[in-house]
Amino acid sequence: MEIFREIHPLKAFLKKIRLQGKSIGLVPTMGALHNGHLSLLEAAKRENSVTVCSIYINPAQFNNPTDLERYPRTIDTDIELLKKVECDILFCPENKEMYPEKPVIHFDFGHLDSVMEGKFRPGHFSGVALVVAKFFNIVQPNNVYFGQKDWQQFSIIKRLADELMFDMTLHSIPTVRESGGLAQSSRNQRLNQEERARATIFYRALTEASTLLKTGAHLADVKKKVQMMFKQHDGVRLEYFELAERTNLNLLDSVESANNLILCIAGYVGDVRLIDNMFIDLSSD
Ligand code: AMP
Repeated sequence: MEIFREIHPLKAFLKKIRLQGKSIGLVPTMGALHNGHLSLLEAAKRENSVTVCSIYINPAQFNNPTDLERYPRTIDTDIELLKKVECDILFCPENKEMYPEKPVIHFDFGHLDSVMEGKFRPGHFSGVALVVAKFFNIVQPNNVYFGQKDWQQFSIIKRLADELMFDMTLHSIPTVRESGGLAQSSRNQRLNQEERARATIFYRALTEASTLLKTGAHLADVKKKVQMMFKQHDGVRLEYFELAERTNLNLLDSVESANNLILCIAGYVGDVRLIDNMFIDLSSD
């Protein structure tokens, strides 16, 4: 595996690859790699001649300095893992490489970043969009792979790519979960065993809500039920639980359309913030 810490050598290397007519797949990550990341890498490897993984903890997307400070950093194990899955290229730049100057650009995605994660993490998606646009320009991939777990992020990046006319295809890959349903996340590394068990509440709430909605329950009652679930359990706190239209993230007060819906949830286990979501189609099964 080739490892690059600087932009120019990486660009020169990728230019040669492009001239050979080879396709490039990009998997952007913040490291502390787990099976979720590996499933994106697998898809990238399957569909492209060359796979690039980026590992970069982007300070611009952290609205909470303590969260940035405590974000898991496991670069040596990450490199070993990437070698094992035969990733071709790792790009792991330093902050000064990605932000030689303090950025002045801010993105506003309107409704898309004013709800859910955007509401609770002001500035987060602007920072995400900034770093992702940089990666798109540096790597110029044919395909880019994201996880469904961060669906709002995917929707925003899709809008960014469409509106700025980036010539690449974006893919969303299903969420990889642990046996109890907990979505794999780098932040899970900060949970002890007891907290990990508690954290399954997010998946249990999504599953339960999905079943209730499919059997005709009112959304307001389902929301109350989820709030109760969190109140009845120690060490967990619900931040939001929403039903939205999957394509435009319009939040629903009641179940108006039957298909292409998504349930989104966020909250805390101890001081670790977790998010999850589930697609639901009420007209099927
Ligand atoms: P992160 O390192 O958390 O920024 O995530 C990098 C990419 O991996 C994002 O596109 C995430 O949506 C994706 N990802 C994170 N967790 C999972 C998971 N459990 N299953 C699938 N993809 C994931």
